[in-house]
Amino acid sequence: MGGRSGAVRLTPEVFREIVPAARPRLPGADAVLPYLRRMDEARSYSNFGPLLTAFEARLAERFETGTRIVTCVNATQVLTLTLQALDLPADSFVIVPSYTFVATAHAVIAAGLKPWFVDVDIDDWMLQPDTVRAGLAAAPGPVSAVIPVAAFGAMPDLDGWKALRRDTGLAVILDGAAAFDQARQSDIPVVVSLHATKVLGIGEGGFLATGDEDLAARVRQLTTFGFRGSRAAQIVATNAKLSEYAGAVGLAALDNWDSDRLQYLRTSRLMRAAMTYLPEVRFQAGWGVDWVTSVCSVRLPDGTTDHVEQTLAAADIGTRRWWDQGCHTNTAFAGYPCDALPATERLGQSVIGLPFAIDMDERQISRISGALVTALAGL
Ligand SMILES: *Cc1c(COP(=O)(O)O)cnc(C)c1O
Repeated sequence: MGGRSGAVRLTPEVFREIVPAARPRLPGADAVLPYLRRMDEARSYSNFGPLLTAFEARLAERFETGTRIVTCVNATQVLTLTLQALDLPADSFVIVPSYTFVATAHAVIAAGLKPWFVDVDIDDWMLQPDTVRAGLAAAPGPVSAVIPVAAFGAMPDLDGWKALRRDTGLAVILDGAAAFDQARQSDIPVVVSLHATKVLGIGEGGFLATGDEDLAARVRQLTTFGFRGSRAAQIVATNAKLSEYAGAVGLAALDNWDSDRLQYLRTSRLMRAAMTYLPEVRFQAGWGVDWVTSVCSVRLPDGTTDHVEQTLAAADIGTRRWWDQGCHTNTAFAGYPCDALPATERLGQSVIGLPFAIDMDERQISRISGALVTALAGL
């Protein structure tokens, strides 16, 4: 190959590195192997074998004592099964923020309920208990529950949600899919995703953390054919269990978590440092300082997003509008009611995910900030 005339000309273009919007890093083969060997010995591959049981126990240690963990094939299923386990009136409304990932609304519908999209706060991007309180009088029908969402991993004010639950009797489930780092309380049932793109990834998976023993038992029963203590199906259910392979990756991921978290903090701080002279690029409060997550969603000045996206794309820098124009704008949810959504509409136009990965280096980060300076300078 490569005869006299066949030499490839390596122009700078060829060398130009692409900065992808996301580049997950799960535990490597060497970290998982010891657990796979244990599986070989135990010859247990699913049905709550020793690895998944150990993984759940270690997840529970992150929460207050008495917390029950129920693992499941993904967070969307956990949300659905938790709503089912709560036995809410069929066809009642569940309040969801309009600014969220589509999974939140899908889960509501899959549980035989109806989403009602309510606006979020323009500053913290999350549904507020006071908005729910104020909106209830104008609800499109009977409301049985509310699912606040931890926006990209930021933790909402849980005391406010507990007060709302107490005062209104609504069931409250926190969609903390991206909030593995911050989810440490289980008084309000919290659902966390273990998807590869989340901060603690195992590929596909999710879990419920709750202090309500009975709720945990019912969700568990729904994940395992309706069995509870015997092989008799006592309720209509499904199979949404995780296997021992998932448990192996999960244990390896937890082994790495302390150092991975520090690495996330370091990379996040570099991102923040690179934007010091770009105050118009606004991070979520505490992002990468008080808490870590796997994405870097920032808010740009109104009206600049398209131009910024195009400028970064031209520099081979990927971006992603993780929640696009809002959940309610998806065709799948066109038939469901929406409150007035001015903040969601504004965020949909101004929030973009910059490239982010646990091991992004200084060169990539300075390329991103450099492209942002260029993009925002002419505006
Ligand atoms: C990722 C995500 C989900 C879905 O989690 P899966 O484990 O992929 O089902 C749900 N809600 C939010 C807010 C998410 O970010």
